[in-house]
Amino acid sequence: MDIRTQKTFEALFALEDIREVLRQSLPNVTNPEEEHSIKEGVDKVRKILDEIENGTGTPQVRKIADSIDIRSREETYINIQPIQAAGRLTPEARKALIAYGDGYSTCDACRKPFRLDKIRTPPIAPFHEQLASFLNMDVARVVPGARRGFQAVTSTLVNKGDSVIVSSLAHYTEFLAVEEAEGTVKEVPVNEHNIVTADATAEKIEVVKQETGKLPVLIMIDHFDYQYANEHDIKGIAEVAHQYDIPFLYNGAYTVGVMPVDGKEIGADFVVGSGHKSMASPAPSGVLATTDEWAPKIFRTTQMVGDVTKRKFGIKEVEMLGCTLMGSTLIGMMASFPTVKNRVHNWEEEVKKSNYLIDGLLTVEGGKVLSEYPRKHTLSKVDTSRNFDIIAQGHKRRGFFLSDELSSKGIVGEFAGATRVWKLNTYGLSWEKVRYVVDTFQDIAEKYKLQVNGENDSNGSK
Ligand SMILES: *Cc1c(COP(=O)(O)O)cnc(C)c1O
Repeated sequence: MDIRTQKTFEALFALEDIREVLRQSLPNVTNPEEEHSIKEGVDKVRKILDEIENGTGTPQVRKIADSIDIRSREETYINIQPIQAAGRLTPEARKALIAYGDGYSTCDACRKPFRLDKIRTPPIAPFHEQLASFLNMDVARVVPGARRGFQAVTSTLVNKGDSVIVSSLAHYTEFLAVEEAEGTVKEVPVNEHNIVTADATAEKIEVVKQETGKLPVLIMIDHFDYQYANEHDIKGIAEVAHQYDIPFLYNGAYTVGVMPVDGKEIGADFVVGSGHKSMASPAPSGVLATTDEWAPKIFRTTQMVGDVTKRKFGIKEVEMLGCTLMGSTLIGMMASFPTVKNRVHNWEEEVKKSNYLIDGLLTVEGGKVLSEYPRKHTLSKVDTSRNFDIIAQGHKRRGFFLSDELSSKGIVGEFAGATRVWKLNTYGLSWEKVRYVVDTFQDIAEKYKLQVNGENDSNGSK
């Protein structure tokens, strides 16, 4: 770790200690002891600032609460970890975490009728409207992760024994959301290119109808799946769904927040996104958006009445269990939103970088990309069993040799020890970093006498 990174954490922590003194003091009064603590704190911060400026000093703080390491992965390394890329926070989100970290911090100005999405200070209610329009849907709610979005929908639509169509590349959370509702998943097979098509979906609907005597009650398909990040025919599938009058859930865990998503244009009844995967938000966060047609069902309000007290809870929404993302999780999501709204327009550039990196990896003889190619996404699955894995077989560190080599060059996030089939994600890396990653892979290949074919164009310097 760069000592300046360590010292930046130390300065932030030391400022928090000053903040704590202010929290403990009486309103507008600090006693002599507190004055002293503040002065000590300020001196400490000042010293740390000097160390940041000069790149000096030694680590003084190694743990939070004696047991939790400082996490400086994003400061210290280039992180190509497949699920972390687009969930990295914006500086605004990190500031929001500091300011709104207290438990129910969002609830300061919660007024009747007491529901999270009605709060106007901070601007949570407008944020909900912006989220819906961002996805071109009518109504949106924040949820603790895409999975909780699936759950709200399955719990509403799926009864015991009902079938739900998912993709053969569906995420496990889709299985679990159906399972919890006591439904059964029915997978649409992929074609020879690992793509889910509209025709295959229609065929599966017919199969389910014949086998069970009933139509599936929901179709839930990922726009880009988590295994290959291949693009599936989401619009065609939505059309098929509507021909059969089956509601369609668009799983945008890998799209909402990184590329433009237009729910109405897609023909989605539900759009689900993941805050911590693709919206530069703290976990657990996500979005569930729907149409005016479905909103009253999915976001139905409580009807329950206490038998003793006769209490009722009015407009609290059952599937949301009243309120969802309290505190800094939501405010962090909101703080990143202006950036997120803009960044989706840079998607083509992100895809270019993804292709540049994959092309670079493919210059190492024997390398393969298992995802569709050229890439349409920043997440990719590659196969290096015919180059780096052959080296691993004869290396005393086995598969770890590659992670060792990469991390010594400041690159982390590929599955440690995996040299056959693994995934990486270039989302949000600058061109400079993407070029650096390619150069590093080529250098490692050359070091181990693997054949590297040609140059990677726009770089030229190798
Ligand atoms: C990551 C992922 C999910 C789960 O998202 P959470 O927000 O963590 O619940 C669901 N589906 C797909 C396709 C994913 O990639």
